Amino acid sequence: MLEIKGLSAAYGQHRALEDVNLRVDRGEIVVILGANGAGKSTLLKAISGICEGQVGGSVVMQGTELLGMAANRIVEEGIALVPEGRGVFGDLTVAENLTLGAYANRAREEEAGNLERVLRLFPKLRERRGQQVRTMSGGEQQMVAIGRAMMSNPALLTLDEPSLGLSPLLCKELFQSLKTVRDAGIGILLVEQNARQSLAIADRGYLIENGRILQEGKAAELRNDPAVQAAYLGGG
Ligand code: ATP
Repeated sequence: MLEIKGLSAAYGQHRALEDVNLRVDRGEIVVILGANGAGKSTLLKAISGICEGQVGGSVVMQGTELLGMAANRIVEEGIALVPEGRGVFGDLTVAENLTLGAYANRAREEEAGNLERVLRLFPKLRERRGQQVRTMSGGEQQMVAIGRAMMSNPALLTLDEPSLGLSPLLCKELFQSLKTVRDAGIGILLVEQNARQSLAIADRGYLIENGRILQEGKAAELRNDPAVQAAYLGGG
């Protein structure tokens, strides 16, 4: 579904991504693991057309080249981004935030159906529809952010460190809900620092270091790989 070939990105002299090759198929969760500054956010930004650096290579979504396309066109091609730090509007209600996610042409006609799907996925958001987002817990706000992205009716959901700042219990809930999204046939590309839990729900994974893919494999293989365990799973 998403096929990335030879992707590079540079901020001036600094090369943030180098010859990245990666794919995400329909209905699979793919996790990108890597240390701070490895280039994970840059990768998601390049896919979504919002990278401020110079980007080269190829990003093809369902047969369409996305590189060079404006960010709103990329949403129309079926890719939604949940940015790091969520980017929700605190002064607005849950319902208003969700409606803002439905601006894409591909989603407008289906808005009522998409909203129902999102509220079924996150029943808490149904209860809290009228609540101002700033008064919600971090986990609830993260659900709003994911729900808003899902309102564009994406084929591929990309998320930048969604578990950041969440309690262990909320992390668990978050990863469970990503599985539900995957099981609905949507592809997920997940950037995470929480290697243990993300590898537990992922189908495949890539390790990125200094802007390059160091290793890729099935999530189960990566979980059992001694080098991965030492670097990302605290030796255990
Ligand atoms: P983290 O886990 O800390 O968010 P990351 O893997 O997402 O890190 P990126 O944010 O993609 O890493 O950054 C990769 C490199 O590019 C870093 O060295 C960073 O300083 C640099 N970089 C990122 N954005 C910019 C920018 N707008 N201008 C200049 N350099 C940037």
